[in-house]
Amino acid sequence: MDSPERIAVVGAGAVGLTTAFDLAARGARVTLFERDDPGAGMTGRAAGICYDAYAEDVDVAVADRAMQRFREFDGKGEFVFHETPYVFLAREGDDASATALSEAVERMQVHNRAAELITPDELADRFPIRTDDVALAGVSETAGWADPSAYVDLLVEQCETEGVEFRVGEEVSIRTDPPRVVTVDSVVRFDAVVVAAGVHSRALLADAGHPLALKPYRVQALVAECDYDGPTVYDATDESYLRPHPTGVFAGDGVEPVAADPSDWDSSADEWFVEESTAAVRHRTETDPRVERAWAGLCGATPDRNPLVGAIAEGVSVAAGWHGHGFMWAPALGEMLAADVLGDDGPIPESFDPRRFDGDEEFAVVDGMTLDE
Ligand SMILES: Cc1cc2nc3c(=O)[nH]c(=O)nc-3n(C[C@H](O)[C@H](O)[C@H](O)COP(=O)(O)OP(=O)(O)OC[C@H]3O[C@@H](n4cnc5c(N)ncnc54)[C@H](O)[C@@H]3O)c2cc1C
Repeated sequence: MDSPERIAVVGAGAVGLTTAFDLAARGARVTLFERDDPGAGMTGRAAGICYDAYAEDVDVAVADRAMQRFREFDGKGEFVFHETPYVFLAREGDDASATALSEAVERMQVHNRAAELITPDELADRFPIRTDDVALAGVSETAGWADPSAYVDLLVEQCETEGVEFRVGEEVSIRTDPPRVVTVDSVVRFDAVVVAAGVHSRALLADAGHPLALKPYRVQALVAECDYDGPTVYDATDESYLRPHPTGVFAGDGVEPVAADPSDWDSSADEWFVEESTAAVRHRTETDPRVERAWAGLCGATPDRNPLVGAIAEGVSVAAGWHGHGFMWAPALGEMLAADVLGDDGPIPESFDPRRFDGDEEFAVVDGMTLDE
C-alpha cells in the first residue's frame, strides 16, 4: 500500500502516542483509540530509566536515536530529561555477572558507547553509593531518566497540535483485510492500523487471526522517601535497580518470570518485594528509605528478546514486546513505525519483524534489564 492517509493507532501509551505524533507530523490523518486515559497502561507505571549502554548494534542505534529525541523534547512543556549516570555492578562472589559485565562493556565500546569499567574504589570516589560489596562496575555517563507521565502529557499536547483525533474511553478490536477498527457502535475502515496496545496487543491481534509470540510477565516497583542524589544503579547480582526520584528513590525488580494474564493480574506489590527492595535501597544508598507507594505492572517478553515491530498483515502493524525497554525506546519506535507505515524503505530493523514467529512458540520469560542485551 502506498502512503496511507487515514491511520488508526490503538493505545495511547508512550509508543502509541509517539507513533501518532510522528504520523500526524508527516501529514497523515490520525485517530488514536485509547480505552482508558493516555498513559494509564504500563507507561504510567514505568521508572522512566533511559540509557544507550547496549552491547548489540541494533539496540544501540534505537536507543541512541531515542535519547537524542528525549533531549530535543527536554524543556518543552513540563517535560524534563534528567541527565543521570547509569552504574551497573556485579557483587563480590558473583563471577558470572562480573564476567558478563566486563564483556558487555567491551561490546558497548565497540559501538562507541561512552561506557567504561570502573573499580569499586573509583566508584566510591565518584558516586554517593555503598561499594564495599562490589566486585566490578560499569558506568555510562550518557544516561538519564524522565517522568513517563510528563512524557505522556507532552506527547498528548504535541499530538493535539498536529491534529490527531483522540477517541479516549473507547475499547476497540480490529479486523484485517481490509484494516478496520471495531468500536461499540461502528466499524471504521482505515488505510492502516497500528496496534500499540502494550501487553494487550496479543489478545487484540489473536482476535483478528494473527497470534503474536508475546508473553506478559509481572514486575514490581516502589517509590521511597530518602535523601539520595546519586546515579541510577543496576545490581546485576540480584537484578534490582534504583534511580533518583524527586522525593528520594524509585526502585524496582520483583520480576515473576512466568506468563501473566493481562486481563486478570495482581497490580499491587507483594510484601516480599517491598521488604527486599527497601533493604536493597537502604544498603546501596546508605539512607533510611520510607516507602511512599508500591505497585506491580506487566512487561512483554518475546522468544528472542527482540521486540515485535512492523507489519503483521496488509495495512496492520504492531509495536509490542519491549522486555522493559518500551519507554526508553519510544521516541525512536514511534518515528520508525511512522516512517514504515508511510512507505519509507527499511526504517525498522529486520530482527524486529513480528512475522519471524508463528505466535504459538513455547518460550521462557527472560527479564530485559540484563548485561547480555
Ligand atoms: C514497574 C515498571 C517499570 C518500568 N520501568 C521502565 C524503565 O525504566 N524504562 C523503560 O524503558 N521501560 C520501563 N518499563 C516498561 C515500560 O513501561 C513499557 O515498555 C512501555 O510503557 C510500553 O509502552 P506501550 O505504549 O507499548 O504500552 P502501554 O503504556 O501499556 O500502552 C498501551 C495502551 O493501550 C491501551 N489499550 C489496550 N487495549 C486496548 C484496546 N482494546 N482498545 C483501546 N486501547 C487499548 C491501554 O489502555 C494502554 O494505555 C517499566 C514497566 C514497569 C511495569
